[in-house]
Amino acid sequence: MKLGLFNSKKKKHISETPGYIDSDPAKCVQCGICSYNCPIGIDVRAHVWDREPMINTQCITCGKCITLCPRGVLQFVATDGLSKDTLWNT
Ligand code: SF4
Ligand code: SF4
Repeated sequence: MKLGLFNSKKKKHISETPGYIDSDPAKCVQCGICSYNCPIGIDVRAHVWDREPMINTQCITCGKCITLCPRGVLQFVATDGLSKDTLWNT
C-alpha cells in the first residue's frame, strides 16, 4: 500500500504571467469572494486584510480574484515589464 507521504510527483503550480497580485485594502469590504473563487485555495481576503501583496504564494496569476472582486480592490503587478491590467480590470 502506498501512503504517498514522499510523493515526488506533487503538482507544481506554474504562474501564467510573471508578476503578483496587489491590493488597495481601503476599498476592501472583506466579502471573501476572492478567496472563495481562487482555484489554488489562497486566502486572498486575508492577504488584503494584512496589507500583504501575494508574493511567494502558490498564486498562478490566473486573475480570477481580480475579475470577481466587486470593489476593484485587486490588481496585477507585472514583473517583466508587461501588464495584464487592461485584460483583467475590464
Ligand atoms: S473580493 Fe474584493 S472586496 Fe471582497 S474580500 Fe476580496 S478583495 Fe475584498
Ligand atoms: S490570481 Fe488566481 S491563483 Fe492568484 S490569488 Fe487570484 S485567484 Fe488565486
